[in-house]
Amino acid sequence: MYLPDFEYFAPDSIGEACQLLSQFGAKAKLISGGTDVLVKMKNELLAPEVLVSIKNLEELKKIEYVPGKGVVIGARAKHNDLVYSELLAKRYPSIPGAAKQMAHNQIRNSGTVGGNIVNAVPSADLPPILIALSATVHIVGAKGSRSLALEDVFTGPNTTCLAPDEIITEVIIPDQKMTGSTYMKFGLRAAGALAVAGVAAAVWVENGVMKDARIVMSAVGPTPMRAKKAEDFLKGKKITDELLAEAGKKAAEECKPIDDYRASAEYRRNLVSVFTKRSLRKAIDEGHV
Ligand SMILES: Cc1cc2nc3c(=O)[nH]c(=O)nc-3n(C[C@H](O)[C@H](O)[C@H](O)COP(=O)(O)OP(=O)(O)OC[C@H]3O[C@@H](n4cnc5c(N)ncnc54)[C@H](O)[C@@H]3O)c2cc1C
Repeated sequence: MYLPDFEYFAPDSIGEACQLLSQFGAKAKLISGGTDVLVKMKNELLAPEVLVSIKNLEELKKIEYVPGKGVVIGARAKHNDLVYSELLAKRYPSIPGAAKQMAHNQIRNSGTVGGNIVNAVPSADLPPILIALSATVHIVGAKGSRSLALEDVFTGPNTTCLAPDEIITEVIIPDQKMTGSTYMKFGLRAAGALAVAGVAAAVWVENGVMKDARIVMSAVGPTPMRAKKAEDFLKGKKITDELLAEAGKKAAEECKPIDDYRASAEYRRNLVSVFTKRSLRKAIDEGHV
């Protein structure tokens, strides 16, 4: 399993990186941490003639709070940067909580937020919690820039709406009313396993009433999926265990799981039902976004 030959560029600016991607078109591939790209190249699933690395783009590594904008996570932030971020521990502990459940240290020290998004695997662990927190992404391309809701980035398994010359630069978590959030996943091993199913929940609770809820499911559809019927069902209702269990059933009805070697569709539906109830309860009880 040797890597095929390729030409390698590591530009010092985002503009230059976009230009290179535009210039080489279909021959080129952007590489960030390489935990997906290099594995695919070794397995002969991908053979780009040109790799454009964004490893030198220091401005994409930040995790900071920008007043009026929110928490800004650079696309080159690694999973372990999320795990050990004091800012995230204080403001959104559910994000390090999700990152901790990913892979193992070696991958968490290389894999990045941008790569986890653009790889667009339905079982990816970061998109659900980021979507539950209403994240947007900033995208820069050879012809300009744009921002959009993270949930609108995904178009299907392994596909996104990004043009080949576009780079995600930032993920932005806006200031919000949500009072708690969490992500739970079930994998076939206690650590280092992809999600068989996962559920992220963000809740806004006031005086025991669910003012708002966002529920996002992973590995049970072609893309990370909102459980919108369950969210609507919860809104304005007094919180009880029965209510959360009913929301779980509704989420299980909404998801679109497949049968594969890791689990049956029916088993995945059951996981969604249980994890929706549990993640809502955890987000409610911990009362910390
Ligand atoms: C052993 C192993 C275990 C794993 N476990 C998990 C797990 O538990 N949970 C999980 O979710 N994932 C897991 N992964 C998958 C992988 O580690 C993550 O998806 C990682 O976040 C990818 O980031 P990267 O920087 O390495 O991406 P790369 O491999 O560099 O790139 C992946 C894709 O994203 C594109 N890309 C990267 N950054 C950007 C950007 N800023 N803008 C535009 N396009 C970009 C690349 O062109 C490529 O198409 C695992 C992988 C391995 C090998």
